[in-house]
Amino acid sequence: MKFTQLPTPCYVVDEALIEKNLEILKGVTERTGARILLAQKAFSMYALYPLIGKFLNGATASGLYESRLGAEEMVVPAAAEGRKLENHIFSPAYRESDFEEILRYCDHIVFNSWIQAEKFGARAKAAGKSIGLRINPECSTQEGHAIYDPCAPGSRLGVTKAHFDMAAGTADGARLLSILDGIHFHTLCEQNSDHLEQTLDAVEEKFGQYLPSMKWINFGGGHHITRAGYDIPRLERCIRKMQQKYGLEVYLEPGESVALNAGFLIATVLEIFRNGTDIAILDTSAACHMPDVLEMPYRPPLRDSGQPGDKAHTYRLGGPTCLAGDIIGDYSFDRALREGDRLVFEDMAIYSMVKNNTFNGMPLPSIALLKKNGDCRIVKQFGYRDFKERLS
Ligand SMILES: *Cc1c(COP(=O)(O)O)cnc(C)c1O
Repeated sequence: MKFTQLPTPCYVVDEALIEKNLEILKGVTERTGARILLAQKAFSMYALYPLIGKFLNGATASGLYESRLGAEEMVVPAAAEGRKLENHIFSPAYRESDFEEILRYCDHIVFNSWIQAEKFGARAKAAGKSIGLRINPECSTQEGHAIYDPCAPGSRLGVTKAHFDMAAGTADGARLLSILDGIHFHTLCEQNSDHLEQTLDAVEEKFGQYLPSMKWINFGGGHHITRAGYDIPRLERCIRKMQQKYGLEVYLEPGESVALNAGFLIATVLEIFRNGTDIAILDTSAACHMPDVLEMPYRPPLRDSGQPGDKAHTYRLGGPTCLAGDIIGDYSFDRALREGDRLVFEDMAIYSMVKNNTFNGMPLPSIALLKKNGDCRIVKQFGYRDFKERLS
């Protein structure tokens, strides 16, 4: 099927663009030995896990279901081909009822607090797992997106130095520390390696005394490694420093940079009218199919369009839901839009299909793959049942 024949709305992931990103990430692994995992929460298109598993070292999960998906679709199939991939998990709090199953899927388990580590750590170790504790280096490097800053005051993510030192000073804490394999931090969001460097300085300053007894350190995600202009040599210096100074294995777990700029959301114009400004209603919704546009918020790039007023015809593009704010943004075009025109939103692989919903009974977009030979294949289509099955 051709790109222009795909039904809309449809997420289309471009295999060649994903591979380009994976090549860049694999280069970091080849040059430094750092292990890179797919953070599934950003991109869980498991039709591509076999490909991703050829370039990366495994997957990481935010909870039981993602860890099972990573096991089923990436780690187990790779093992059948003789390649050993890793399956990591971090959750702010594990459920007792999930934990035995998590132990089946995961080899690395990261805890968010000393209490969690005390509750589950010895059991995980006894099952042969590598265990880690997430720290909060209290080093905010982000501007603008407070909800993406785990170092903000009052954060529930990670152990602060004060708390770490206090716990490590108790008998129980010291015992736990002696079985801890790694330290995990995740503080970045769409950032460059200068902010990683700054964060690592804070990690060393606050937690440096604990690093020599660890086996690994996990730098989390938020590294925009595959973005043009990302300073990869600086990232590699950060990795080597931790390897050489403390003898640590280094992990990175990017989500975004695996599928950055590698996918599209195609939509069709359903209706056009005017209310002070020209308005086009599309068959895709910001609220349902690209919630980060409203949540983050951001303006998705749209192929062959400009900023409002840049080109001759400006439209406010909105979704077909009842939400007044279901607006993707204002865009301009060289020619007037018509009913039936197709629009291609770009950079729609990440944090899109993993976050979509059926509010208003909106259909879910199909998921398609644009193959290297230019052909498209619809990987999955959804219907009424997918809406109904989530309700009762
Ligand atoms: C979100 C998250 C990631 C991935 O972040 P990206 O910004 O998509 O690279 C990795 N690790 C943890 C713990 C996360 O919460």
